[in-house]
Amino acid sequence: MPESDHTGAVLTIDLNAIVANWLLLRGMLAGAECAAVVKADAYGLGADRVAPALARAGCKTFFVAHVGEGVAVRRALPNATIHVLNGPVPGSGKTLIDHQLVPVLNSLGDIESWGDLARTHGAPLTADVHIDTGMARLGLPPDETETLIREPERLDGIKLTFLMSHLACADEADHPLNHQQLTDFLRVRQPFKDVRASFANSSGIFLGPEYHFDLARPGVALYGVGPRPGETNPMAQVVRLQGKILQVRDVDRPQTVGYGASHRVVRRGRVATVGVGYADGYLRSLSNSGNGYIEDIRVPIVGRVSMDLITLDVSDVPVDAACPGALVDLIGPHNPVDTVAAEAGTIGYEILTGLGSRYHRVYLDSAD
Ligand SMILES: *Cc1c(COP(=O)(O)O)cnc(C)c1O
Repeated sequence: MPESDHTGAVLTIDLNAIVANWLLLRGMLAGAECAAVVKADAYGLGADRVAPALARAGCKTFFVAHVGEGVAVRRALPNATIHVLNGPVPGSGKTLIDHQLVPVLNSLGDIESWGDLARTHGAPLTADVHIDTGMARLGLPPDETETLIREPERLDGIKLTFLMSHLACADEADHPLNHQQLTDFLRVRQPFKDVRASFANSSGIFLGPEYHFDLARPGVALYGVGPRPGETNPMAQVVRLQGKILQVRDVDRPQTVGYGASHRVVRRGRVATVGVGYADGYLRSLSNSGNGYIEDIRVPIVGRVSMDLITLDVSDVPVDAACPGALVDLIGPHNPVDTVAAEAGTIGYEILTGLGSRYHRVYLDSAD
């Protein structure tokens, strides 16, 4: 991890807030278990720190996307249940078994190959089955689902842990697809009565108890992103990104700032240069649209975001508060992840998972 003095910014990740968010979601699930999705290195925040913190808080079940991510989480958590959403890709069988990872079977082909492996293994192998009810992405498509219902012997040798499906529009509470997917999932579930079911992601938890089933799979809400866009965000903020000022200069018309001369100076003022750029995941679409904060004073991005640098208008900030070495909140109390995402024309998921590797990372953890 780079020394803070040698980097352009400090990224603070509040593990206590992640735990508080998990406890809040768990509290909403009357009878259902609350898992945690820690794919993509816990949405960019560091699965090696996030997963153990959640495990200490009582989380027993984790989801990753890739087999390799599952191996990494297993190293951190010897006793947790770890599910691999992208399933048993060819050649991964031994690794899945050796690390006791539970693959999500996403097709009849997956079921066949996992069943074959179980029969040569000589003991039942656990797995989940994912039914596609409206994503057309992963999971058994409707025709394969009907085949599986007619021919349940295809699951011989497989110990089914969860029957799962995934919502396409959970963040739009009124979208008709939510209820349609629920109805389809309930119907498919009938013949698998004694198998536990899992349906809701973060936003799905907020759709109500009929969406909860036996296990919910929240990801993004754990990391502070609002699960109900447009409504008050009940989640605690997890991430703070503080960029360091390298230089401050006086500017006046008819100057321009940055590549492409896209910002034209209209009055005397000051511009601060901060050592964060699109190579750090500070998206180029924030050019002339993003905002930083120094204390509670807004300092807008002026000019284009470049690879390693951004420029901000600090004219409204007292000179001794906007000086080399001073910190600018690029993500913080006044500009949380969702706000930055909106300014960049994207979603909080993309801001988090893009957080760069050049930042000095600080973890807040009451267990330390
Ligand atoms: C990523 C993912 C989740 C978690 O979704 P969030 O919206 O981040 O809560 C749950 N289930 C599946 C299948 C996923 O791919």
